[in-house]
Amino acid sequence: MTETPLTILERVFGYHSFRGHQQAIIETLWHGNDALVLMPTGGGKSLCYQIPALLHSGTGVVISPLIALMQDQVDALHELGVRAGFLNSSLGREDIIATEQALLHGQLDLLYIAPERLTQQRTLSLLKQIPLALFAIDEAHCVSQWGHDFRSEYLQLGLLHEQFPDVPRIALTATADMRTREEIARRLQLTDAAHFVSSFDRPNIQYRITQKSNARQQLLRFLRAEHPGDAGIVYCLSRNKVDTTAEWLQQQGFNALPYHAGLPAAQRRDHQQRFLREDGVIMVATIAFGMGIDKPDVRFVAHLDLPKSIEGYYQETGRAGRDGEPATAWLVYGVEDVIKLRQMLEGSAGSEDHKRSERQKLDAMLGLCEIVSCRRHALLTYFGEASDAQCGNCDACLHPARTWDASDAVRKALSCVYRTGQRFGVNHLIDVLRGSDNEKVRQFGHQHLSTYGIGSDLPTAGWRSVFRQLVARGLLRVDVDGYGALHLTEACRPILRGEEAVHLREDVKEAAERSRSKRHQPALPEEDRPLWEALRKLRKTLADEHGVPPYVIFNDRTLTEMVERRPLKENELLSVTGVGETKLERFGDAFLEVIREFEYG
Ligand code: ADP
Ligand code: ZN
Repeated sequence: MTETPLTILERVFGYHSFRGHQQAIIETLWHGNDALVLMPTGGGKSLCYQIPALLHSGTGVVISPLIALMQDQVDALHELGVRAGFLNSSLGREDIIATEQALLHGQLDLLYIAPERLTQQRTLSLLKQIPLALFAIDEAHCVSQWGHDFRSEYLQLGLLHEQFPDVPRIALTATADMRTREEIARRLQLTDAAHFVSSFDRPNIQYRITQKSNARQQLLRFLRAEHPGDAGIVYCLSRNKVDTTAEWLQQQGFNALPYHAGLPAAQRRDHQQRFLREDGVIMVATIAFGMGIDKPDVRFVAHLDLPKSIEGYYQETGRAGRDGEPATAWLVYGVEDVIKLRQMLEGSAGSEDHKRSERQKLDAMLGLCEIVSCRRHALLTYFGEASDAQCGNCDACLHPARTWDASDAVRKALSCVYRTGQRFGVNHLIDVLRGSDNEKVRQFGHQHLSTYGIGSDLPTAGWRSVFRQLVARGLLRVDVDGYGALHLTEACRPILRGEEAVHLREDVKEAAERSRSKRHQPALPEEDRPLWEALRKLRKTLADEHGVPPYVIFNDRTLTEMVERRPLKENELLSVTGVGETKLERFGDAFLEVIREFEYG
């Protein structure tokens, strides 16, 4: 039989159709041309170079900076029956020689290699002796000096074009912006490459942004109601908060582990390994965790602190749902978070230029939090992509928030800031507005101010919402050093003079939100649970035997289909997504046996 991209997709990977641009990209390389691919996380980039490498008799060389992932990637290919190997600094001399020999004898379909090793003379002369299918440059944005993942070794990859002019090249990245794309094309000398730009939308991720009232309880309710037993990531800003949150989640009965740069390397490795290998682990982490985490079945990403930019938010939430199954991006924030981030930014050491750009990024992030229209639409618009005004899968679309004419309340709040001398933080200002009788109020004689008690009609939470939105919109500025004292800005003038109305977001009441936000995942019917659990258990046993993460055996989609379709024969199992030839041979009997047991009792 002559192989085509589709027959390989079916036979090796067990998938039945291509996604998005995959087929066009594969054909471009197959015909010997170059490609530049922008696809979001989870879009299915790997198949774009794996399939052309399998179609070609020579070896496909994959360049990646993520050395820690190579072993897993190669293991996963072995489970599919693909001949793959890797070369990087983690290998001992003997392993390197063995891999080089396999390469020379035409025994590798795919070779993963770190950029610094590729550009060594020894490697280049080795590669010149064998037929090559292609070069795939993964994480190609690492060539950009402006990005945060810059790797100087990537700059040398232009030599591939000079030294291997006839070997097709494909560069891939999940970084969306235009400037990076142009830089990749230029620096990697991909002048004639066909560009494939996918939508950066992640439709299976539900975006939810909520006001903080009691963050821990909110998180707990979210996890219990929507993600019991699921794997996920909880991001916190500080190491200390990571530690305490992880401990608290453990006490609540969750399998939670901390991860941050302050932990010993061995412990970090151990926790990462458990996150990958065990089912349902919650990783509580700083943003140090994530780069190069290839786990496809992360079902939620929860932020207990605000990300500093939309880029960061998109990247962090993007770690959820790589497998395309429903996932949730959940964030809570309050006025303190806004104040803290503003303070950190203004107090940082950077140049004025740098601060200005950081400020713009934070403003955009706060804007995303405060809008009442579709979050996804705002997110995609930020990345320059057109989209529907309503996505139907974010909190704004599911439970629209209202706005209210807050002009009066805002004037009261601003006057109170002014009357108290622009020296106080949110809590005291609210005490004065609400006419609280406490020591601090009396100490400063604030009970005599004209603004004392003029805001007793609004509850404390209402005032916190007002102040949060005023800081977010730049109507109030935060003191850099000190205790978060608020100052008026120029932008307040027309409002104070009564020339401009202010409409603010009416925060959705937590209880209301809770009752309306139902689990969006089509949970398995109760009667299917036992089979699902039995299959999951078998998957874990096989994974441990093979020393790979469970999803490498079969992913959740595949298991769900097995439960739904209950295949009893080999050919029925083969038609389940994710079951290819090799996996059928290796695992088919074991899974069929479990299913038969449930069917026939
Ligand atoms: P990326 O590298 O773009 O983040 P991956 O290559 O890891 O994405 O693919 C994400 C997931 O989607 C993987 O589990 C992969 O097996 C699966 N996948 C990719 N292409 C297809 C397809 N055509 N049909 C079904 N599943 C696919
Ligand atoms: Zn929406």
